[in-house]
Amino acid sequence: MRALVVEDEKELAELLGSYLEHDGFEVTVVHDGLDAVEAGRKIDPDVVVLDLGLPGLDGVEVCRQLRTFSDAYVVMLTARTDEVDTLIGLSVGADDYMTKPFSPRELMARVQAMFRRPRPGATVAAALDGARRFGALTVDALGRDVWLDGAPVALTRTEFDLLATLAEHPRMAFSRQQLIEAVWGPSWVGDEHLVDVHIGHLRRKLNDDPAEGQYVRTVRGVGYRMGSSQ
Ligand code: CA
Repeated sequence: MRALVVEDEKELAELLGSYLEHDGFEVTVVHDGLDAVEAGRKIDPDVVVLDLGLPGLDGVEVCRQLRTFSDAYVVMLTARTDEVDTLIGLSVGADDYMTKPFSPRELMARVQAMFRRPRPGATVAAALDGARRFGALTVDALGRDVWLDGAPVALTRTEFDLLATLAEHPRMAFSRQQLIEAVWGPSWVGDEHLVDVHIGHLRRKLNDDPAEGQYVRTVRGVGYRMGSSQ
């Protein structure tokens, strides 16, 4: 597993790097935004710890560029709590956010939870020979593939996990909190609207209705569920 740490506070960068190394990651540390995008292309990281305030390109732009070629798990570091709301509103594509100062142990706990948890859908998918169909949409939870009208759809890790969670129980309406527990883990504390942002990205990639959703339906007053199962 490869990790990329992008942080211009060098001591913090080294500290986070050593925690990740201790946990078995092969770590690359860079200190500015331009190097971050280049390193992202070169090492194809599984996890990116990305500071918001960076020289060169800021964290928002780095995340946007990373997302054009990477489905890495991105944790963005911010200096203030209120920045998180703004970032969620901007849909920059990070999977999680942490506000400084934070404990590196807490960061590691989140990264570990993400990588140690069995992937949603794995057991059910095995029983179903891998694939579930929802009209023109096929979700292969075991292979982590999604197809729309026969063409593959490139989803980020978080988008895929949300879709696989919904697809695993197609008749169930999930609350945002239930989706957070399934995808980010029960210890995640933050804004539930992060779910809405990722659902928004997911719908866009599935050419789904941005408001109601054919594949990922809005259940008013509750949250989300899969659309018609076939
Ligand atoms: Ca900084």
